[in-house]
Amino acid sequence: MNLIDVTKQFPTDEECLKYIEQMRWPDGVVRCPVCGNDRISRITRKSQTKNVRKSLYQCLEPTCKQQFSATSGTIFNDSHLPLHKWFMALAIVVDAKKSISANQLKEHLGIGSYRTAWYMAHRIRKAMEEEGGLLHGTVEIDETYIGGKSKRRGGGSKNQKPRSEKFDMVLGMRERKGRVKFVHIPDGKAQSIRKAVSAHVHPNTAKVYTDSAAVYDFAFHPNLKLRHKAVNHSMQWIVPGTDIHTNTVESAFSLLKRGLIGSFHRVSIKHLHRYLSEFEFRWNIRKDEDRFSRTLRRMAGIAPMPYVELIAVPKTEA
Ligand SMILES: [Zn+2]
Repeated sequence: MNLIDVTKQFPTDEECLKYIEQMRWPDGVVRCPVCGNDRISRITRKSQTKNVRKSLYQCLEPTCKQQFSATSGTIFNDSHLPLHKWFMALAIVVDAKKSISANQLKEHLGIGSYRTAWYMAHRIRKAMEEEGGLLHGTVEIDETYIGGKSKRRGGGSKNQKPRSEKFDMVLGMRERKGRVKFVHIPDGKAQSIRKAVSAHVHPNTAKVYTDSAAVYDFAFHPNLKLRHKAVNHSMQWIVPGTDIHTNTVESAFSLLKRGLIGSFHRVSIKHLHRYLSEFEFRWNIRKDEDRFSRTLRRMAGIAPMPYVELIAVPKTEA
């Protein structure tokens, strides 16, 4: 569903809320989110007060009596933004290959403040955190550097470590024809790389390809070391007569870098992992026709992501 479809299908908050209700209670039985009881009554608000959901329910369990709506306990719960703006923002974000800044969202959607748009964008990113599984098959691993004010923007070798310490290493791991995983490695050390590789690559994966940087020799699990082959980038991009190269992880990096440079003036290192999640998720669902609903489902907390985690946003971001 692209932005046009979304604006047609969900012109008002009522349609959005109905859709979330269908996602939340697919069998049509509304259940109290607190006690799980299905004996509830509908409260109809006569006044259409701004910022108040019109469709409310009351739990009839005497010990509970919770009032709730379809958005209670979801990422939309405490938002003052109209739901149709959230839907539009999501449609924009899931399709924006190079991502979109909070400022652009603010402008496009007529959101009052930058802060509100920024907070919304981060909550959408939160729903994009992949739990995934371990990468397997042929996995390419490479690193790139993000941050600082690079004079080499758009040029220079991406594998060459910049001199400035302000740059942060991002490790990219990609299954051929499959998913990608980006991990921020603040210290750039072999043992941190090893930890990230062990956390995300299946120990019995078929093959692991990297460039010939010495760091990878030390970074591997003994099991993976047996499956490891390297291409020496100072000589060639692919080992002749083989499929040993890291070109597909590099294409994922190039989209990440163009996005980070193009859409964000400055990415705070503190939030880098959230941007990485966003790029990773978008890459991994790029062929999924249903990506709008799939992501919305996560935002509504229906996908297996605990609510507490979904809304756990440090105070500094509020
Ligand atoms: Zn209840």
